[in-house]
Amino acid sequence: MSQTTSRQQFIGKLSASLNQLREEGLYKPERVISSRQGAVVTCDDGRQLINLCANNYLGLSGDESMVQASIDATREFGYGLSSVRFICGTQTVHKQLEKAIAEFVGTEDCILYAAAFDANGGVFEPLFDENDAIISDALNHASIIDGIRLCKAARYRYAHNDMADLETQLKAAADKRHRIIVTDGVFSMDGTIAQLDRICDLADQYDALVMIDECHASGFMGATGRGTHEHHNVMGRIDIITGTLGKALGGAMGGFTAARKEVIDTLRQKSRPYLFSNTLAPSITGASLSVLQRLSASTELRDRLHANTAHFRREIAALGFTIKPGTHPVVPVMLFDAPVAQKFAARLYELGVLVTGFFYPVVPMGQARVRVQLSAAHSIEQLNTALAAFAQAGRELGLIR
Ligand SMILES: *Cc1c(COP(=O)(O)O)cnc(C)c1O
Repeated sequence: MSQTTSRQQFIGKLSASLNQLREEGLYKPERVISSRQGAVVTCDDGRQLINLCANNYLGLSGDESMVQASIDATREFGYGLSSVRFICGTQTVHKQLEKAIAEFVGTEDCILYAAAFDANGGVFEPLFDENDAIISDALNHASIIDGIRLCKAARYRYAHNDMADLETQLKAAADKRHRIIVTDGVFSMDGTIAQLDRICDLADQYDALVMIDECHASGFMGATGRGTHEHHNVMGRIDIITGTLGKALGGAMGGFTAARKEVIDTLRQKSRPYLFSNTLAPSITGASLSVLQRLSASTELRDRLHANTAHFRREIAALGFTIKPGTHPVVPVMLFDAPVAQKFAARLYELGVLVTGFFYPVVPMGQARVRVQLSAAHSIEQLNTALAAFAQAGRELGLIR
């Protein structure tokens, strides 16, 4: 008699749960692109689409300047280091990039990671313990939530963007040794900008530190693109800044934490994703350095992104669509109903526009949407072509008149 083994049961369980995801419409297929990333991409079915769903805010991901900078860095420093930083994985270009990031975001020092996920995963545990309190926005990124889980500090959560609840939590944590408030600088689902001016005031009032995750802000928020702290005029009042090299700042991969020297030195000694994971490839490190030099010399890309964003926000609203108000290049076009969001995104694909529908559980129930993300790489003509497709699909589905 044949018995099902534990292995067969294990695979059977996974198969059943995958089928359930498919039935619930929650299975995430992966779109296959056969071109570089950019304002227009080619998909593996041969279609050319205007891309409105990349985090390619400054349009650098597929840009020839980045390809050249990464080739130059590869020629000079090689393909890789086969080492963590502290053994033999630190080159001059890594030190230069850390210095450039620290200067750009306005801190004393900076430490590189393989990803912002690692930066957030490795920031709390070395710095805080059971005597301390971490006070976190309810909608913070998954990597912050995981990082906090790895740390013994007491956890406090405040309702998203709710300053009254933040104050309540600060009071509740008053007896702890250190308190740190943690928030995404910009929340990527709604494009909501954290109220850092008020958060810093509350931090002063309740003797707390402040940490921001700048993944959707570094390079373009604020007058010179330094980030949300520049946007809110609180540069110098933020204790810890984490960010990614995988979005606006080039779009390959890599992350960082920027802070005072003592904080960064402690992370270099004790942060596990830094100590036990390979150094960032020289091609990415060198190309990222070229981005920071470019952004420090000129706000042209940042300015073009904001002009594109203002144009799209104005015109999509004029067509009669409901958007979440704001100024960020994340523009949620609200459709409320999950099947409508799916149909709308599918129709836009046929019309040559790449967007993604988001629905529960990624966003709250009844808040289904397509999330548009603008880029400095888009031309106004491309945006107008995309807007015409939105208008057509919207009329066909009865969403606008
Ligand atoms: C994308 C993102 C991350 C992860 O960045 P990676 O460098 O891709 O790991 C972390 N935090 C926020 C808020 C993000 O949007």
